[in-house]
Amino acid sequence: MRNKKFKLCSLLIIGIFAFNFYIYNYHIKDSENVISPDENRKVVYLTFDDGPTHVITNQLLDVLKEYNVKATFFVVGKEIEDKEDILLRIYKEGHGIGLHTYSHNYKKVYSNEEIFVDEMLSTQKYIKDITGFHSNIIRFPGGSVPHLNTNFLNKLHDNNLLVYDWNIDLKDGMYPNLTSEQLVSNSKKYRGNPDRFIILMHCNFNNKNTVKALPKIIEYYKELGCDFRAINGNTKEYYYKFRK
Ligand SMILES: [Zn+2]
Repeated sequence: MRNKKFKLCSLLIIGIFAFNFYIYNYHIKDSENVISPDENRKVVYLTFDDGPTHVITNQLLDVLKEYNVKATFFVVGKEIEDKEDILLRIYKEGHGIGLHTYSHNYKKVYSNEEIFVDEMLSTQKYIKDITGFHSNIIRFPGGSVPHLNTNFLNKLHDNNLLVYDWNIDLKDGMYPNLTSEQLVSNSKKYRGNPDRFIILMHCNFNNKNTVKALPKIIEYYKELGCDFRAINGNTKEYYYKFRK
């Protein structure tokens, strides 16, 4: 009986080792797919939603400057009020600026497509008045699912608006208090098999752990040999599949 127990225990331990070995190798293999020769270099887009905010946006800009990396800020129109100087800083330091509605009020912006487009266009005008820059890249609050469909996309394109979702989610929007270690770990998990990485991050007033995590995230993607780029009107759109 004792012998049987011992055998079972040994088998279990061997099993756990084998499983860990498999997981370890699987991950190595997985990251080898990410690291590719220069000609297939992966591109990474760091994107920050919901700003500008006084403290956090400035701190993120400081980190980006230190690492000489460009990112994209999908700004909310009403948040620009009294923070025009921060919007100007984003622009002057060469980052991308995108539209993320004027009110960020889900109930309102998703009540009908005209209101959604109007909010994007009024934010577009606001940004243009301050910086002279014409932005036509947009991000849906909460992502394009389940709002986008063929007609809606055509309507957006008629207004020369291009859509960008994401395939990596830091989860710092819903959970701003995740530790910086958890945020860094989330920054390494992507969905699907993307030809480029688009990382969703936030710059709300309570995203101080995102600021803490950013240097590690940048270092990780630098080590992978990724190119950091800002999204602009020439960037290929990226939106989730939708029903016609
Ligand atoms: Zn948002």
